[in-house]
Amino acid sequence: MIEINPHFSEFEDYRRAIRDLCAQFPSKYWQEIEERAGYPEAFVKALAEAGWLGALIPEQYGGGGLTVSAAAVILEEINRSGANSGACHAQMYIMGALLRHGSDAQKEKYLPAIASGQLRLQSFAVTEPTTGTDTTKTKTFAARKRDRYIVNGQKTWISRMQHSDLMLLLARTTPLAEVKKKTEGLSIFIVDFRNSTHKGLTLRPIRNMVNHETNEVFFDNFEIPAENLIGDEGAGFRYILDGMNAERILIAAECIGDGYWFIDKARAYANERIVFDRPIGKNQGIQFPIAQAYARVRAADLMRYEAARLFDNHQPCGAEANMAKMLAAEASWEAANVCLQTHGGFGFAVEFDVERKFRETRLYQVAPISTNLILSYIAEHVLGMPRSF
Ligand SMILES: Cc1cc2nc3c(=O)[nH]c(=O)nc-3n(C[C@H](O)[C@H](O)[C@H](O)COP(=O)(O)OP(=O)(O)OC[C@H]3O[C@@H](n4cnc5c(N)ncnc54)[C@H](O)[C@@H]3O)c2cc1C
Repeated sequence: MIEINPHFSEFEDYRRAIRDLCAQFPSKYWQEIEERAGYPEAFVKALAEAGWLGALIPEQYGGGGLTVSAAAVILEEINRSGANSGACHAQMYIMGALLRHGSDAQKEKYLPAIASGQLRLQSFAVTEPTTGTDTTKTKTFAARKRDRYIVNGQKTWISRMQHSDLMLLLARTTPLAEVKKKTEGLSIFIVDFRNSTHKGLTLRPIRNMVNHETNEVFFDNFEIPAENLIGDEGAGFRYILDGMNAERILIAAECIGDGYWFIDKARAYANERIVFDRPIGKNQGIQFPIAQAYARVRAADLMRYEAARLFDNHQPCGAEANMAKMLAAEASWEAANVCLQTHGGFGFAVEFDVERKFRETRLYQVAPISTNLILSYIAEHVLGMPRSF
């Protein structure tokens, strides 16, 4: 099939290498994993050992030292190949907190091992059942007691915990009632599951619409060594905000990868499926929705490249990163819907992978950030309208 991504020649070596690696994990692999509600261990291991998940770690720590523009291509091509970055993307997008705000000792301790694939940093615990998107109301509390913090509280939707060695945890260290600004008094910790007895930590897996390992987590006097605090106590919310633009751009790239996968799948099927003695793709009722979805993926991709360009040039990119993520998530969802419709009944058959990818790409409009929150960011910060919450 002809390549429909005009950006294919950018970072072409990376794109080809990722496609080759993903080809070792064909659709049967993903179907089998989903059937047993498993985790794609071998796939993630192969990516990590080849250094792809350490792409954003500086070279001095053994990482790839890539820009966000380049790193985003890795996730895009994973999804374009029919795989799901959701099993491993966090390692790229949560790395920033440790990179930018971790101490030299923490970076020396963790980054080289993460870069080489020996250590997995795949889990980030922010969301809570009673606070939802209103992160400053975080209730999980970490109280300092000599050389430890004692954590109590509950998190929900915490992904990949069972397949990660490390987790970043956001907790309150000063009660909300005692801070001047609600964004103060939150801190980030590295939880090292290898050294932890897991005493005071309980997991309850959440069965969900996609085959995604995610959990409810209960902390009951769970201890973290004080040296595992990242940066300054109380500055954690700022550290999270710092990493959000990169996260949005990386997620947008995943959606773009999905979008192209759906378009490829739809056009191939439209060309080969014969009904009424001719390919269904001869009907404009089939062609036009595919063409329209393609145009929307291309448009969203331009915003993604613009956001990544600004980010890599250290220029403000909050608006572009947010818009890229929203537009790309909407475009991939439209492409998914069109692809399913083009396949008719076969779109629902597991062996075509369309229904799996359809479910997977729907998630991007909710997590890691839901569309309404992006719209409210644009309304307030770009258009100068009043804050709604
Ligand atoms: C499969 C999966 C994996 C996840 N993995 C992780 C993870 O690893 N770590 C983690 O910390 N979290 C994770 N999450 C949580 C995810 O980030 C949240 O679900 C998401 O941020 C939305 O929060 P919420 O579900 O609490 O929705 P709520 O905050 O309860 O919001 C519900 C709806 O109301 C809308 N809404 C809320 N307030 C407003 C407002 N002021 N104006 C307009 N609309 C509003 C929201 O946009 C949303 O549509 C995951 C979620 C899922 C489903």
